[in-house]
Order: sequence, then structure tokens, then C-alpha cells
Amino acid sequence: MKLNKFTNSILAIAILISSQFACQALSSTPPATQPPLAATEPMPVNTEAAVAEFTPTTDASVDISQFTDDQIMTGIQEALDAHANAYSSNDPALLDEFVDQQNKPFRRIVKSRFDDFQKSAGGGQYTFEYTLLDIARREYGFVIGHFRTAGGYEGSWMFRYFENRWVLSEPSVEQVGKPVTTETEHFTFTTYPWAEDVNSKIMSMLDVARNNVEKVLGKVPDEKANVIILPIYGLRPANSSLSIANYSSAQGTLKNVIQINTPYSYAYSFYDPALGWDGDLQTTLTHEYTHMTHLLSFDKAGGLSDWMSEGLAEYVAGATENKYGACNAYRSGTFIPILDESDTVYKQDLMHMYLLEQNFGLSYDFATSLVDFTVEKHGGLDGFWKLAHALDDTGDFKKAVPQAFGISYAQYNQEWQDWLKGLC
Ligand SMILES: [Zn+2]
Repeated sequence: MKLNKFTNSILAIAILISSQFACQALSSTPPATQPPLAATEPMPVNTEAAVAEFTPTTDASVDISQFTDDQIMTGIQEALDAHANAYSSNDPALLDEFVDQQNKPFRRIVKSRFDDFQKSAGGGQYTFEYTLLDIARREYGFVIGHFRTAGGYEGSWMFRYFENRWVLSEPSVEQVGKPVTTETEHFTFTTYPWAEDVNSKIMSMLDVARNNVEKVLGKVPDEKANVIILPIYGLRPANSSLSIANYSSAQGTLKNVIQINTPYSYAYSFYDPALGWDGDLQTTLTHEYTHMTHLLSFDKAGGLSDWMSEGLAEYVAGATENKYGACNAYRSGTFIPILDESDTVYKQDLMHMYLLEQNFGLSYDFATSLVDFTVEKHGGLDGFWKLAHALDDTGDFKKAVPQAFGISYAQYNQEWQDWLKGLC
């Protein structure tokens, strides 16, 4: 998986970030409570449960043609202000006031995200501010509000009018329509009519992702991926993942599942307007398809090591700016080693990224830098695979390095750190 910009942009939202720290800050903001999510963690789509939990009242379909755009914008700005203030001042009651309390799965996910943030190192540290840019009216009284954060990121969330105010919400499972299956040469897509305006674009981005992976790794699997494009959280209420997309090798009877949140779902949250929502998503889809290719076409070589798997996915996705984030962090004294050689049970190192108690987001940057370094200084991607196979053979990274490269682990480790600190 890959964290989405929600965690990364928490700091981007804050007003008082000086530019020299922005690079580091943007890539080092995991919630301390981020659960370790393996790439293969099953995330069931639980349609029946969601239907049972959200039966919208007549208010859900209140006729909003009575409102002018200006009136709606004022109401949604009020909801955004409340959301921002609730985050800034850790005020869960205020959060609840402007979140649809009838939609239980949605309410739960908004709350759990809020709690995660407040418990994290960032809780209480930032002032949030959202400015509504424009709105789009949708079916069933829903309105999409497109806004900018104080840090220059943008997002689009859905709102509805309920009990005299506009609240953050999303449609019910019934309202998004029945799932549609589309078979293409390399993918089986499940989409929902609600997201008709973005479905075909996202579907074509999967082909781009596949081509990207083939270009870098030289091969891609013949197996089709099952791609599910989700317009709402309600379709998977059991999952509170922060990722905008994720890959799982199996999910129930389905194999090779890639789940994607649509850009105006709360799950998608924020994106860099310079890249656009599709730019951010394209990188993530390439990342996820790399995981699938790594497993099916490369036998998940080196998969014992989290950094080889996540770093490779970032490398193939072209997330090369990551290494500068790692460099800045290194120089300011935050470092995640390849091997944690202390006696601790839960190793705090790049071999066990999912077990990290802090700097989970930053671990992606260090992982990418280590892949970059290995490719650049130790024989290209062939060198990377050599190291991966050596790790599979030996089960011990300290033995794998000399087997692959004829140098000691200590030397490899030192060379990497010297290279890294020279980047910025
Ligand atoms: Zn990943």
C-alpha cells in the first residue's frame, strides 16, 4: 500500500511551514497510531452490512433546487470551517455537528480518522483552514464541494442538506447504483454508476500503470487484476485504510484485487493541484500494480524485507522526490536504519516498515532512497534483484549483501548513508 496525501498534507495544511522544511515535513507525517497494513491485507467489500446501516430519511433527498449556489456555498463553507476548527482545537463534538450522523459507516470513518490524527504527533500542532472554490450539484441532494487547504492542497468532498445545515456526507450503497462489471484485456473492473464521470478515466489509468511497470521492470503478469472503483466508504465499512488505492493478493474468492477511491470521496482527501487528482492517483496505481507484478512475475523476491517491496513500488512509480525527503530527514537527525540491531521485539527498521511505531510515512522515503542507491551504485535493477534473491537464499540481510555484491553489510550501509546525505 501507499499512504495517501491525507497524512502527508496534514502538515501542508498548516500555515506556518517555512519552505526549507517543507520537503521534509511533507514526507514525515504519519499518525503515530497508523496501523501496520500489509500490502496483502484483505479488505472486504461489505455491501450487506452497509445497506443495513444507512437508510437515509426523506431529508436525504431534500429538494435543493430551492437553494441558490451562493446559499449552498455559504452552507458548505460553514461545514468546512467547522471541520477545520474541530481539527485545530481537538473538538469532536463540533466535528459531529457537521458530519452526517445518519450515515453510520461514514460517521465512523470520519471519527476514526479524526481520532488518529489527534493522537498522533501532529495533534494540536496545526491550524487548519479550508476555502471552498466551487460546487457541483449531484443526485439525491448531494453537492460536491471543491476546496483548497491553507497549504495549497485541494480536495473534493460530498455534502448534503440535513436539519437546516450542510453536513459532510456520502451517498448510500443503494444511491451509488448497482455494480457494473467491465472486462478488458488485462483487467476486470467493478464500477458504480455514481462515479460515471471518472470511471473510464481511472480505467484507462490502469493501462498506463501496467505500461509504466512493464517499461521499468521488463515484464508484467498475464493474470488479470480485479479492480474495484469505490465512490463511497460505505462499500467497505470494515476498512479504515488511509490509502487512496491498495492491492491485495486475495480478497474472499477474488484474486489480485486493486481497490481505488474516487477523487471526490472523503477517502481520497487531498491532492497537489500541480499534479491534479489524476497525477497523484496515477503514481499510486503504478505503485500498486508494481506490488502485483512483484508477486506474480518476480516471485516476490526479497519480499521478506518491507523496504524492498515498498521501495521498489515507489521507484517504479517514479516517486524519485522521496529520496530528497529522506536526505532532509537524515540531515536533521531523523534516521531509519536498514537493520535495527537492538534486542527489541518489534524491530524499528526498514526491514519491518509495517512495525514502525513512528515515522511510518518517512520510511517510504528511506526505502525509495535505498532502492535508488542500490540501482545506481550496485548494477542497476539487476543488482537489486541479485540482492533480493540473495536475501531469499540466506534469510539474513547481513549475509545477502556480501553474497550479492562482495562487500560487507557495514560497507553497503555506510555507502548508502554517505550517498544519501550528499543528495541535499
Ligand atoms: Zn505499497
